[in-house]
Amino acid sequence: MKKLGVLTAGGDAPGMNAAIRAAVRTALSYGLEVAGIERGYGGLYEKAFLKLDSRSVSGIINKSGTFLKTKRFPQFKEKDVREKCRRNLAEEGVEGLVVIGGDGSARGAYALSSDFDFPAALIPASIDNDIYGTDFTVGFDTAVNTAVSAVDNIRDTATSHERTFVVEVMGREKGNLAIEVAVACGAEIVIVPEIKMEGEKVVRLLKEQEMKGKASSIIILAEGAGKAEELTAFLQKEFPEKQIRYSVLGYIQRGGSPTYLTRVLAAQFGKAAVETLMEGKYPFMVGIRGSEIVRVPLKRVVSCSKLMPYGHLDIINRMAI
Ligand code: ADP
Repeated sequence: MKKLGVLTAGGDAPGMNAAIRAAVRTALSYGLEVAGIERGYGGLYEKAFLKLDSRSVSGIINKSGTFLKTKRFPQFKEKDVREKCRRNLAEEGVEGLVVIGGDGSARGAYALSSDFDFPAALIPASIDNDIYGTDFTVGFDTAVNTAVSAVDNIRDTATSHERTFVVEVMGREKGNLAIEVAVACGAEIVIVPEIKMEGEKVVRLLKEQEMKGKASSIIILAEGAGKAEELTAFLQKEFPEKQIRYSVLGYIQRGGSPTYLTRVLAAQFGKAAVETLMEGKYPFMVGIRGSEIVRVPLKRVVSCSKLMPYGHLDIINRMAI
């Protein structure tokens, strides 16, 4: 193998730049050439290749987002589009591809690799931590920390004014981010897409907490489980005497300088992804289990679903007394 390609696809996550840097420098250290591909699979189709050297990735380890850019490119689901991408890679002399991204990016990498027997490796990067086969994704720790400090600030007001706050965090299909934030913030209630919770149940829980002398509560709501505005309006009707407010954290959770854990993970994954390809092993995702860096077949990654840490629910319920 003489030349590797690197791209970032799907939603951006803090630490993508650190992962690009690690993959590029590992490849260069082994004497490979590296092509960066801009705008994910879209750039692969449009032949947006950039020659990368060691200096191209200087000064980005601490920057959020991805300097290679990313965009959604649903056309990549079509085989003839992937065929053109495969030809573009061949014309560019790229013999292996490191894809940095989430669940959808994993599907894209698996489709490209399995259709054309093309070497591809995935570095899981997502603020949702919803990818099967790895305990953590690049960016998750940063996003949790960003949300935690925002909720801590909201808690100050909630306590002082004896208010109840509904805080909506990201997570369309999975509650992994929400539940982690809820435990870390000592939230009283968490509502996630995996477990239906009717407004009436929230009312009941708030009444129980009131009886225990709690004057303010924090409810963490994953965006896929409902809208903070609607839940707040419903609760306000049920508790006219209470001041109930909401906050939608939104895109602030995607940005911010990556934490040290995110950066270390990005470095470990970047190196492991390149070495996996150099050993001729594909298609794999690199991941972490416990403290061990592992390789997981992409086929498993795309066919299995990662479970939310359900044990956290018990912690939240027991602490909310
Ligand atoms: P993420 O990687 O963050 O989950 P997306 O779901 O948008 O983000 O996926 C990123 C990109 O991966 C998509 O824009 C598309 O180009 C590609 N992709 C997603 N799903 C598939 C699929 N089933 N087959 C091929 N490519 C896919």
